[in-house]
This record gives sequence, structure tokens and C-alpha cells, in this order.
Amino acid sequence: SKFERLDKILSHMGYGSRKDVKRIIKEGRVLINGEAIDKNDYKIDPYNDSIVVDGIEIEYRKYIYIMMNKPKGVISSTFDPINRTVIDLLEDEYLSFNLFPAGRLDKDTEGLLILTNDGKLVHELLSPKKGVDKTYYVEVEGFVDEKHIIQFQEGLILEDGYKTLPSRLKILEPGFISKVELTIKEGKFHQVKRMFKALNMEVVYLKRIKFGPIELDKSLKLGQYRELIEEEIKLLK
Ligand code: URA
Repeated sequence: SKFERLDKILSHMGYGSRKDVKRIIKEGRVLINGEAIDKNDYKIDPYNDSIVVDGIEIEYRKYIYIMMNKPKGVISSTFDPINRTVIDLLEDEYLSFNLFPAGRLDKDTEGLLILTNDGKLVHELLSPKKGVDKTYYVEVEGFVDEKHIIQFQEGLILEDGYKTLPSRLKILEPGFISKVELTIKEGKFHQVKRMFKALNMEVVYLKRIKFGPIELDKSLKLGQYRELIEEEIKLLK
């Protein structure tokens, strides 16, 4: 049914726990289609009924999609007993949505991370069959040259014997520390670091700049995030 309990809807919209929203409803602060409703089990159609809380009309959304510029030192999981997580970086208004990251970046990796509560989309984005492109900006110890482009293209044998799928290396600036971009279709544990390790080169800085069709918004400073716009969400699906 498209009808849901008012307290459930408001809780999902970030107005607090069921207990919190029960109080808000009881206090007569909620109008449905212009009428004050004080019963928390009142059934509404959240997509079509007008919902006003404390005089502000709210738009019901089931799914939230966020892009974050993940900083170093933060773990890309929803809970960690010691470290700060990407969820800890979100403002309270997002906490009721049960957002989780689409894939993982290492603790010391920066850059684009998608957070959402759309489990189906995450499943598709991470499916090895889909092979969504992930592009990383990499600073690596050692001179990177044309022959490495071919090696990445042909696949590299990692230390555990796994042969990587073809990947695209773009040299931005060769040097004692070379600056490159690498696009991979996989997402094995520490994959980029291990690919360079296979060539005896150590990654000293790693930042994801693209995930599928989504590019990291350059205006986002480390630790900042924004919701994806409609067109970006369409591109992802
Ligand atoms: N590859 C890595 O080695 N680390 C990441 O965080 C992402 C890709």
C-alpha cells in the first residue's frame, strides 16, 4: 500500500525517533492536507498528501544520494569502535536515513564516495559483472612511462597471483614521484596500491575522482558533501 503511518514517515524524514515524532504529532505541529493531525497511527500517502511540520512543507523522499569528498583518517563504514566514520561527518538531518557508502575507500584514501540508502543501486554499482569505472588520481614513487600504460592495459599479476582486468593509465606528470590517473573496473581490497606494488612502486597519495558517470565536485572541500542532483542520479541508474 502507498499509505504509511504518520509517525513512521516523519521518523524516516529525520524528525527523530518514533518517540520524538509521537510528541511532535501530539503537540499538534503536523498538518496533513492543511488539517492538524494528532494521531501518530494516522495513515497518509507520503508522496501525494501535503505534509507540513511547524509551518514548513516537507517533501517526502524515500532515497537519498550523497557525494562526499572523503578526507584521510576517516573510515568508509557505518560504524567503527575507534575511528570516525563517513557517517559521523553527516549532519543530523541525514542520520535517520540509514545511509551507507557504495563501496569503500581506504582510511588514507581521499575523494569521491557515494552514500545512499538505495540498496538496490549500490548492489548494481558494486556488481563485478557491471564493471563500473572508478578513476583515481595517484601519486606514486618512481618514474611512470609508456611501457606501464601497456602493462596496466594487459593486466597485472598481484602478489596473491590474481591477474587484474585491463585498466587505463594516464600519465599526467612523470617524475621521482609520478602523477597519474588510473581507471579500473574492479574494486578489490587495496587494488590500486597493489597494482603499483606489482610494479615495485609505492602509492604515496590516492584520491578517487570519478565513480561511474559521477565526477567529484571540485567545489567540495575534504569532508564536505552534497546531495546528487536529479541528472546525476539518472546517470547512475
Ligand atoms: N585502491 C586502493 O588501493 N585503495 C582505495 O582506497 C581504493 C582503491
